[in-house]
Amino acid sequence: MATPAELARLIDLHLDDLRDTEPKWCVGHSEVAGRGVFATADIPEGEIIFRERALVVGPTARKGSILNTCVCCHKLLPVKDFLCKRNCTLPVCDVCSDSQVHRGECDWFIRWQPMDLMKDDSSVTVNPMSLRILTAIRVFLLNTNQRALVNAMQANADRGYRQEIIKAAQCFRKFPTTDKTFMDNLFRVVGVLNTNAFEAPCRRGDHDTLVRGLFPLTAIMNHECTPNASHYFDNGTMAVVRAARFIPKGAEITTTYTKILWSNVTRCIFLKMTKGFICDCSRCNDNTENGTYLAALLCREAHCKGLVLPIQTKTLQPDWHCVTCNTIFPHAKMARYQDFALNTINNRINTSSVSDMITFINEMCPKFCPPSNYVLIEAKLNVIWRMSRFNKDEYTEEQKQHRDRYREEILEILKKLGAGDCTLRKLIMEEIQ
Ligand SMILES: [Zn+2]
Ligand SMILES: [Zn+2]
Ligand SMILES: [Zn+2]
Ligand SMILES: [Zn+2]
Repeated sequence: MATPAELARLIDLHLDDLRDTEPKWCVGHSEVAGRGVFATADIPEGEIIFRERALVVGPTARKGSILNTCVCCHKLLPVKDFLCKRNCTLPVCDVCSDSQVHRGECDWFIRWQPMDLMKDDSSVTVNPMSLRILTAIRVFLLNTNQRALVNAMQANADRGYRQEIIKAAQCFRKFPTTDKTFMDNLFRVVGVLNTNAFEAPCRRGDHDTLVRGLFPLTAIMNHECTPNASHYFDNGTMAVVRAARFIPKGAEITTTYTKILWSNVTRCIFLKMTKGFICDCSRCNDNTENGTYLAALLCREAHCKGLVLPIQTKTLQPDWHCVTCNTIFPHAKMARYQDFALNTINNRINTSSVSDMITFINEMCPKFCPPSNYVLIEAKLNVIWRMSRFNKDEYTEEQKQHRDRYREEILEILKKLGAGDCTLRKLIMEEIQ
């Protein structure tokens, strides 16, 4: 494992011209996770702490991703015949297929002889697993210092990574599976990417896509559920980290690995499953989450409509307790109700117009879900998001009033959480897109 000093040196090289002459941060030893980013001076709320370019970017290749997206410039390609004309079977536009950026990976893919995937109309299509491995392959094509930086990053141990590599290898006739050094390195790189990479929104013309990007400095920041810094991405390739609150000299600069509006239980499960730790921040120790009641569900006892909250904190399976009638419920029962609310509301989001969604939120949801529950809050956020981006003029005054009310409600929650001037607040205020 690299020392914080060595890591700091590699980060400086990576930042290049984006490194401030006198940065207000440094990479240092953190009690929580081995290393972290610390303030070397007082940082006022709202100030940009650093910006960094992605060290490596690639397609996310998730279920439902639009596969006919150029893996280099991320622009939308025609629905047919969109693969590289040099036959590496990656989706690449004509300009990129001839470019130096694509040449290295193109040569490797061709050498490994990708299997053709035929569609019904006998055109050749992309294999998502070979797309998924592309970001890792790109790490091998970086320069020595950049690769050293990737090597210096942490990787959680996870058996799933081997499966990811095996599935990718099966897309080729001659994947170098017998080259032990290469395979060991690949396993390590896939681990680093799965542990540290972000999915960043990227827009090319009208085409919105998510790209998978490794932003090492942003990734070194440790997690806090209501962090003092927040990050956003500038068109998939640049991360911007700002102080969401005043950060005093010496304090650790934190970001969040979850969504800020998720409830305690949801964040806890997510962090344990994906990052392998249980958070111990002040919010995680308070079952009301600063009085926001984001986890609250409705009591199932007859004639009681009280709020039910988890009793224990920092556990995946707490008991639950009604604050009105004091009945205790086992976790399995409340988890079923939470899942029901989640599925019901998300199905609506995916199938309803904004107008139907508003009616559903206002009239149906109160019957099975308290207004403070995070799933309902996220549904309101979805309405705000859709109304601000599509057909701005076609909404009635009444709908706009509901939207404004939702907006106030969410800003109030962020205030209670002490989130400061966080990215979500800026998004809601439409200060960033
Ligand atoms: Zn392109
Ligand atoms: Zn190619
Ligand atoms: Zn926490
Ligand atoms: Zn009750």
